[in-house]
Amino acid sequence: ALAAVNVRHSFGELTVLHGVSLRVAAGEVVAVTGPSGSGKSTLLHLLGGLDVPQEGEVWWAGERADTQDTQARATRRAGRVGLVFQHHYLLEDLNVLDNVRVPALLSGQDGTERARELLARVGLAGREKALPGVLSGGERQRVAVARALASRPAVVLADEPTGSLDRVNADMVAALLIDLARENQAGVLLVTHDERLAARADRTLHLLDGRMVEGG
Ligand code: ATP
Ligand code: MG
Repeated sequence: ALAAVNVRHSFGELTVLHGVSLRVAAGEVVAVTGPSGSGKSTLLHLLGGLDVPQEGEVWWAGERADTQDTQARATRRAGRVGLVFQHHYLLEDLNVLDNVRVPALLSGQDGTERARELLARVGLAGREKALPGVLSGGERQRVAVARALASRPAVVLADEPTGSLDRVNADMVAALLIDLARENQAGVLLVTHDERLAARADRTLHLLDGRMVEGG
């Protein structure tokens, strides 16, 4: 579902990733751990097509993601990659339903139905018309999880998806993310400091100074 081959990336003089390779299969949940500054968020940005690596390749469901063309990356992302971040990037002017529908390019009755089903699945049936501003942190992050799955992506990338939540909400969001991904046969690559969350993964990769070490 997702592959990185020899990805290298620098910010000025600072090389953050020294040739990282990894693979996430359909339906597989992989956790990434590592110390602060080891390059986890940088790696996820590159894997999600928010930035392009200076060297190496990123593949989404058999399609190259590392094109310089930002618009092409956005188009290819639909149906291939869903993203969840620590600080939910919801569109504050759109209601909950449109936050799930619009970024995933879901339109028409089928798209609306898909968005409604996902919202029900994350426990937000009846809140479709609410604006994000009135939701709690846990509810906002559940909208972000529904949105990430909306386009039926091959893989979901999540950077500290539970990092801003209390323990009860963190556990709920983590369980929903993993269960929904499995139901949709999507792979998951999940950056986390939370050992209990990493323990739910099928395997764990450890990033140390921009190099990948298996096992964690
Ligand atoms: P944390 O666990 O604290 O989130 P991380 O493993 O996600 O850390 P990154 O955010 O990937 O680490 O950062 C890796 C290194 O790259 C850090 O030294 C950081 O300062 C640097 N860095 C990240 N983004 C940029 C940027 N846009 N410009 C310059 N340096 C950057
Ligand atoms: Mg980070």
